[in-house]
Parts: sequence; structure tokens; C-alpha cells
Amino acid sequence: MLNGEKQIARPLRWAMVGGGRLSQVGYKHRTGALRDNTAFQLVAGAFDIDAGRGRDFGINLGVAAERCYTDYRELFEREAQREEGIEVVTIATPNGTHYEISKAALEAGLHVICEKPLFFTSQQAREIKALAESKGRIIGVTYGYSGHQMLLQMRQMIARGDIGEVRMVEMQYTHGFSASDSADKFEAQKWRVDPAIAGPSFVLGDLSTHTYYISQLVLPDLKLKSLLCDRQSFIASRAPLEDNAMVMMRYHGGAVGRLWTSSVNAGCMDAQQIRVIGSKASLQWCDTQPNELRYEVQNQPNQLLHHGMPYLDNAALADDRLGALHTEGLTDAWSNIYLKFALAMDAKNRGDEAALAAMIYPGIDAGLEGVRWVENCVRSADSGAVWVNYE
Ligand code: NAD
Repeated sequence: MLNGEKQIARPLRWAMVGGGRLSQVGYKHRTGALRDNTAFQLVAGAFDIDAGRGRDFGINLGVAAERCYTDYRELFEREAQREEGIEVVTIATPNGTHYEISKAALEAGLHVICEKPLFFTSQQAREIKALAESKGRIIGVTYGYSGHQMLLQMRQMIARGDIGEVRMVEMQYTHGFSASDSADKFEAQKWRVDPAIAGPSFVLGDLSTHTYYISQLVLPDLKLKSLLCDRQSFIASRAPLEDNAMVMMRYHGGAVGRLWTSSVNAGCMDAQQIRVIGSKASLQWCDTQPNELRYEVQNQPNQLLHHGMPYLDNAALADDRLGALHTEGLTDAWSNIYLKFALAMDAKNRGDEAALAAMIYPGIDAGLEGVRWVENCVRSADSGAVWVNYE
């Protein structure tokens, strides 16, 4: 169980690019990183595209005025001149800026935590991976939901053979907040439907990369062989970007999968789930009930496993924060992910590659795989919704 005690020698000096006053995701990063004040310390930032608003916001967060910078270039340059400058930066800006800011951060010698979808192309991701390796730096990707401990329980149970041989993976991440075109007048949505800033997809990158990563987390050995993606722009002005997509998958070894992602599922507040069906039993997790894991064994009464209970595997219990009596949520999941980023960065700094190799967290490979997933889905959809080999 986690209780906030220090796990690294001292908190890492941390900055943010983006995630400003009006951003959707900035607070999730700060609650994640600062939950254990033994892991990160927010000391600088270029929080906003509007430099004045960003400076004011940073000061209100408690950051020293002289360390609230105009843009990321000034942030990296000026912090490098300080004796105790930043060591790690989070990039929480719109998609189209991730590549150039990540590259500049690595060149400045910083560890990087970046939002998903990581970049526009897998070529960019491979280039950044090589740069991070040459600089000896970590890249963390904020697939925040993946920090829910019941997903680690799911991973353990599948690995142990509790459901038998995996046959099917059923996934969904949908909501209805873009059901009408009026959604597109909001700042945070405008760029999401502009290919120059969002990249080659809307919901495939925005939503499904999370669920696809969850499938990799719980099924680390299952590799995609081919897929068929059909994507639609139900609001025509969003074309060529999709607000709905359905993907069918074939995995190496014979298992098959299906994923539906949508922002036009009218009336739906949030539906993200994964169900893994094996030859003996199924496991199902849903992000609106993240403290539970359904375990359904054929011909037996269904079981509902609960977070924090001693019957869970150590891998899951190690990430528990509140105990079984209390409900954990998204902020707990983000805190778990951020703590793992800190541990990974610390291990890298100390040259402890063995510790690093044993850690489970969404790093550069998970980010690269998300970009690759989107690329393959788009290639299939834009070729007329045909089966394509997963490249
Ligand atoms: P947003 O439009 O709500 O906010 C973007 C923020 O970045 C704003 O504060 C803006 O002023 C700032 N900004 C933009 N360009 C900048 C620049 N060049 N320098 C400094 N600041 C800049 O967007 P959002 O919804 O917060 O999304 C940001 C990123 O986070 C996207 O990549 C998105 O896909 C991702 N996201 C991830 C999750 C998650 O669960 N992991 C959730 C929401 C968004």
C-alpha cells in the first residue's frame, strides 16, 4: 500500500509546458505528480500559449515569478543556466506540438512526460526514442487510466492462466460530448478536429489509444497481426477526421478483437471498458467502476473482485492508496503512473537498468505503439475499410 513516503532520494525538479488555466488535462498532471510530494516538485513552467495568462497562472500555483516563462524554448534555456534547474518536463499541449517540444527537451538533457497521442508518425516516435536513449533519458506517456490497480490484477490473472487461453478482446471507449457540431466551437475541441494540430485522427488518437494501451498492459504477449478499421465523420465538417470508428483485429496465435471508439455516442457520459474472454472464463474492467474487476467462470457464479482486498495479487495491492473501504478514482490512477515515472527516472539517473527493466509503466514504446495503432487504423479506413497487415 502506498502512503506517500519517499521512494527516491529527493523529489525531482519538475516543470510543465501547457496545462494552463483553461486546459482540460493540466490539473490531472498536477494532482498526479504532486500527490506524493516526495516524487515531484513543481518549480517552473511555460503553462500557456498566452504568456501573460501562463505567468499569472504559474504564480497562482506557487511557482516563482521568474520561473514562469514565455515559451518552452526560454524555459529550457534559462533553466539550464540555473544550478538547480529542472530535471523533467511534462508536455500537456495540443498534439501537433508534442514532437518539437519533446525533441527540444531531450536535447536540453531533460526527462520527458508527454501526452498522448504522442506524435503524428511512428517515424517521429522512433527518432525520439533513439534520441532519448542516446541522452540516457526516460519518456513517460500519460495513459492515466492504466494506473488503476485492478488492471494489474487483470494482467496477473491472465498470465496465471485463470481464464484459460485468450480468445477474444472486446474494447470500447466512447462518449457523446461531440454529438452535435456545437461542440466544435470550444477551444479544446477546435484543434481536435483540425488535422494540422490533431494529426491523422480524432477519436482514434484521442480516445482509443488509452484503451489500446490498456489491452497491451493486461495482455503484454498478444501482438496484432492485422486489422480492419471503418471510420466516420458524422459531423461532416470534421472530415477527414473521424468522430466514430470501429476496428476489428486479428492477433498472432488466433485470438481476435474488436474496439469501438466514438465521441458521438449521444447521451453517453463515459464508457471505457475491456473484456478479455478466455477458454474457461472472462475478465471485465470498466473505468466508471474502476475499483472492481468482474471474473466470470463458465458454469460458476460470477465474482466481483474489489480493490485493496487481501485476496488480490501483490502487484495490484502495491498500488493501493486508500484501502478497500474507500473508493479510488482517476486521480489515484494518475498518481500511480506519475510515481512510476519518478521511479523510472531515478533508476535511469542511477544507471540501474535492471530495476528499470522490471518496471511496468507507459514509456516510449507504449507511446510509439499508440502512434502505430492510429497509423494502421487510418491506413485501413482510408483504403476503404479493408484488412491490412499490422505494420
Ligand atoms: P486544451 O486545449 O484544453 O489545453 C491546451 C493547453 O496547452 C492550454 O493551456 C494552452 O494554453 C496550452 N498551450 C497550447 N500550445 C502551447 C504552447 N506551444 N506552449 C505552451 N502552452 C501551450 O487541451 P487538452 O485537452 O488539455 O489537451 C492537451 C493534450 O493532452 C493533448 O495532447 C490531449 O490529447 C491530451 N489529453 C490527454 C488526456 C489523458 O487522459 N491523458 C486527457 C485530455 C487531454
